[in-house]
Amino acid sequence: MSERLQAIRGMHDVLPERTPFWQHLEDRARAVIEGYGYREMRTPLLEPVELFKRSIGEVTDIVEKEMYAFEDRGGDRLALRPEGTAGCVRAAIEHGLLDQPQRIWYRGAMFRRERPQRGRYRQFHQIGVEVLGLAGPDIDLEVIAMTRRLWQALGLRDLRLALNSLGDGDERARYRAALVKYLRAHEAGLDADSRRRLETNPLRVLDSKNPDLADLIAAAPSLLDYLGEASRAHFEQLCGGLDAAGIVYSIHPRLVRGLDYYNRTVFEWITDALGAQGTVCAGGRYDGLVAQLGGRDVPAVGFALGVERLLDLIDLSALDPSPDAYLVAPGDAASAAAPGIAERLRDAVPGLRLVMHCGGGSFKSQFKKADKSGARLALILGDEELRNGTLGCKPLRGQGEQRTLSFDALISTLSDMRRVG
Ligand code: ATP
Ligand code: MG
Repeated sequence: MSERLQAIRGMHDVLPERTPFWQHLEDRARAVIEGYGYREMRTPLLEPVELFKRSIGEVTDIVEKEMYAFEDRGGDRLALRPEGTAGCVRAAIEHGLLDQPQRIWYRGAMFRRERPQRGRYRQFHQIGVEVLGLAGPDIDLEVIAMTRRLWQALGLRDLRLALNSLGDGDERARYRAALVKYLRAHEAGLDADSRRRLETNPLRVLDSKNPDLADLIAAAPSLLDYLGEASRAHFEQLCGGLDAAGIVYSIHPRLVRGLDYYNRTVFEWITDALGAQGTVCAGGRYDGLVAQLGGRDVPAVGFALGVERLLDLIDLSALDPSPDAYLVAPGDAASAAAPGIAERLRDAVPGLRLVMHCGGGSFKSQFKKADKSGARLALILGDEELRNGTLGCKPLRGQGEQRTLSFDALISTLSDMRRVG
């Protein structure tokens, strides 16, 4: 026997019994996001590796150690996308979308070679938005309000909003100098990774996941003390807008993001329910990125949420993906007529979830399959029903006698069922 092949570690199949939950989340997210006038963009999973080096930053976890990068047979250096922003920005530049503000969203698989654990996978899925061409705190507020609306739509209550401002380039440079001074003074308390970061990208030290560094990081200088007039005003207006909208947040003066392109506003939505993998959504402003990738110098803001982490939080017990009905048709004549009848029912009842029995067998064995399918109704087409233009209709869950219904009566029964849901 040949060896059985398995999925790659950290990459998961979503089996049919779980997909309804994914679809539920995706449907809700799409409805909320498109409700704000955002339009979906789909970009390739593979991009030139250079795109991610130039956008995310050479000295980041993602580019240094997490990216699936390789040379293809033609010698091109490619990478599976580790995030969605770089591809969206590349596409917007390439297709000349930057003449006017763009509100874009995307969804799909991302790839990072991390150590797999709950909430951290090597193929995972994000839904994200990118706004290109708008600079003010009003649009920052819009994307944050959108995330809150999404949590409401998903019935999520216990998420906390953490907020910070990274200031602009020169402000961050001044902060960086102060931070380096502080970290050097406490170098003995740093781990090897952070010591290396201190030389290459000191702000990254603040993003360390090592709990032993938590106190040292908490006592580090605060970014907010280094903001200039304009950055401070931007941040204050955003905070005022959040207050007015009743969006509760707390300011985390040492919140930075794992990617280099952020400036000014950064935020994360965090839960306590998922342990170390508590950030379900992260975003912020990245005003320099579009120009850095060769486009017009337009400001930008966006976020990405982690689908797997959110699915871990949502109570989906009420979702019922079972079929509405299962059509049982024993005997040659009935089974020959069943496909036509099933199609007529599907024509008449939009959204009907109807499974037609295939493969023959006795009434008893077909009925067993109907029961096992989880359907609410068994529809029975026997010789007699066929002659009379009727169908038997038997509830499979709860009480209820079998009834014989005319085609029209059955259509109205099924339509009512669909309406009630
Ligand atoms: P973390 O700090 O948890 O590593 P990150 O800062 O690398 O997250 P982002 O690049 O900002 O994450 O991605 C946005 C969101 O995507 C995260 O908040 C998280 O919900 C999700 N995410 C990121 N990496 C993974 C992963 N490897 N597996 C599952 N979800 C992920
Ligand atoms: Mg990460």
